[in-house]
This record gives sequence, structure tokens and C-alpha cells, in this order.
Amino acid sequence: MTVKKEKAKGFLALNSGSSSLKFALYLDEQEKESMVGRCEQIGTGGNVRIKDIEGQPLVLPKTYSLDTHEAAMQVVLDAMAYFFPDIEVQAVGHRVVHGGRSFDGPIFITPKVLENLERLVKLAPLHEPHNIAGIHAAMEAFPGVPQIACFDTAFHRSQSFVDNAFAIPYHYYEEGILRYGFHGLSYEYINAEVARLAPELHQGKVVVAHLGNGASLCAIEAGRSKASTMGFTAIDGLPMGTRCGQLDPGVILHFLETEGMSIKDLNRILYKESGLLGLSGGLSNDMRVLTEAGTEAAQRAIDYFTHKVCAGVASMAAAMQGINLLVFTAGIGEHSSLVRRKVCEGLAWLGVSLDDISNTQGKGTRLISAKDSKFKVMVIPTDEEVIIVRATRALLAEKAVAEVC
Ligand code: ADP
Repeated sequence: MTVKKEKAKGFLALNSGSSSLKFALYLDEQEKESMVGRCEQIGTGGNVRIKDIEGQPLVLPKTYSLDTHEAAMQVVLDAMAYFFPDIEVQAVGHRVVHGGRSFDGPIFITPKVLENLERLVKLAPLHEPHNIAGIHAAMEAFPGVPQIACFDTAFHRSQSFVDNAFAIPYHYYEEGILRYGFHGLSYEYINAEVARLAPELHQGKVVVAHLGNGASLCAIEAGRSKASTMGFTAIDGLPMGTRCGQLDPGVILHFLETEGMSIKDLNRILYKESGLLGLSGGLSNDMRVLTEAGTEAAQRAIDYFTHKVCAGVASMAAAMQGINLLVFTAGIGEHSSLVRRKVCEGLAWLGVSLDDISNTQGKGTRLISAKDSKFKVMVIPTDEEVIIVRATRALLAEKAVAEVC
């Protein structure tokens, strides 16, 4: 008699961006991924990086041309079959950038949910179409396996009217024209880490600076989102890699009325040609390149960026009437000691000061403020995939309980 070996159960987290697909595979009860990978430069050649639980590279035996998100999904499938043939995926969790008003927590993806997501494409054109493409690709790759959407906007639904409204006729607020905030999965992770590492600070006033290619700030008071810099769409607030951030709406009217620009031109300029890229005169949207360039154009972009982060942190602190902790996270926040230094120098009037050694030489999660600083400053690497998996696992468990009752 042959005994059929039971497969281990796992969860897959997918984070599908405009030109990338990040993925992480978790074993049932584990908080550490068995495999984490990134397919980058989708549509322009492609680049695959996969690591195991120890951070060691996992190399697939063939090379891939990543023309589409479906091709990237094939990498995920091949990696699972090749490195983890004994893990059976019991649910796939997806990062979805915009959840609009309808979605304030993770949800099982049904045809109706997909229809609603399609309606939100216009509000997050850089992200939502790729999130949806990732969902379709995963539904095809894992037929019959529950798919769960986790929204970047859900964390911010606790904000009050004065924090999430625009001063336009009130009926628009009722129709859903309001600030949704984004990067919610990242903020949820940092919030949980602060609760774990410094429970007393978690009960206080925390400003998180998520500074990546997309960048935003969030004021978190006693563990709940109080205010954030991103608005109705993911273009508002801080300047980003290629997005303009906060902009006088009069500039848009001017472009439309005087310059005769089309909506398509506006979308291109504001989403793809602005931010660090635009400020540096087209040099780069990448903080590493700007930091190393040493040119006036690069400096201009860095100065503008750090100046707006300072102003934004102060405004987040004002929303909470205080600040006990500032956390830097995401690519620039985690890795650029220069940006962290410039931001804290700009906030010196609030009494903050950095420990230079910890800021420049430390690695990973750490305190970087000096002993006499008026508020604490930390670096905490973010992990959106862990939040996706936690939510996915919880939703499946809830469903199982509901089915038994
Ligand atoms: P995304 O929003 O695409 O997830 P990331 O969080 O990966 O973005 O952040 C990308 C940004 O982080 C880029 O601007 C990149 O230059 C910056 N970055 C990454 N590593 C460093 C570093 N060592 N020094 C400065 N900036 C860095």
C-alpha cells in the first residue's frame, strides 16, 4: 500500500506593481517567508531575484523574458514547483492599492468585487490595473484557491472629517471625493512593530515616513491612522520618484486652459515625469543615483524632497498635537542616511537630534535618535507581504469558524 504524503499548507502573498511583481510564500503558521522574490522590469526585459528563509539566493534553472505580468506569474509557479513542491497554496493574498469607500478591510475576491475594483482604476492608474492583472493571473494559476484582496486604503478609514475632507462643496464628500491615504499595509506593519518593540510609544503619537518610489507620511495616534499626506489618489502629498505630490490645482487649470494640454498629457506629466525625476531635469527618479550624482540638478531634487518631508512631518505632528516617535521606512527611509539626516536637521526646531553613528552605520531596525532628542527616531524596514499573509490567514480562519457555526 502506498501512503500518500500530505502536502504542507502555505499562503502566497502577491504585490503586483506597474513593472514589478513581489511575492512571498509562507508556511501555514510561520511569520517568516519560505521564499521571497521580486520580478522586476516587467515589459522591459525582466529581472528575477528569489531568496530563501535565510536570505540565500534561489536560482531557477532557466532564464525568463518578463513581457507581461502573466509571464512573471509563471516565475512564481515555477519557483514553487521547483523549490517547494511539497507546499500546497491554500489562499493567495493580494495587495490592492485603492479600495475606495466600499472596502475597509480584507475581502474574498468574487466577480462582484472585481467589478468594483475595475471602477477604481481611474483613481490609481499606476497601480490598480496591475493589481487586477495580478489577481487574474493568480486565479488562472491557482484555480479554486481563495483569493483575498488587502487594501492600502483600509488602514486610514479611521480618519475624521477634518483630516480626510477637501474644502469643496460638501456633497462631493458624501459622494466619496475624500482623502483615502495609501501605503496602508506598510503603515499597518510599522504600527504592529512599534506595538511590539515600544508599547509605550505605540500608545502615543507616531509619525511614519514611508519614503520609497511612492512616498507618504502617516500620523498614527494610539495605533490608529489620524492623518496622512496622500489624498484621493496616490499622487498627492510628498513629491515621489516620478509623481508631483501636492500641487496647486490652479497649475492644472493653467495647463488645461492656457497650454491646451490634453488629459493624457496631464496624466503623463504629473504621474510619470514629475517628482525627483522632474525636479532633477530628467536625471533620475532614483535617490541612489541623485545622491551619487553631485550635480546642482540632483541637489535641487534632494533639497525639495527633504524640505517637503520636514513640512509634512510637522503637519502630521500638528494633526496629533504632538510627536513621540518618527519612523523612517521603505527604500529611501530605510537606506538613505543622508535623507534622514537632512529631514531631522530641518526638524531641529522641534528638538530632535540624531545619533550619527546609528544613523550612518547601523543596519535594519534600530533607534537613531540621540539620547537628548525631544522625540525618538527609528528605522524599521517595512514588510507589506507579512500583513497580507496575516490578513489572509485570519480571513480563512474566520470563514472556517463561520462554516462550523
Ligand atoms: P517602491 O515604492 O517601488 O516599493 P522602494 O521602497 O523599493 O520603492 O524604494 C525605492 C527607492 O529607494 C528608490 O528611490 C531608491 O533609490 C531608494 N533606495 C534604495 N536603496 C537606497 C540606498 N541605499 N540609498 C538611497 N536610496 C535608496
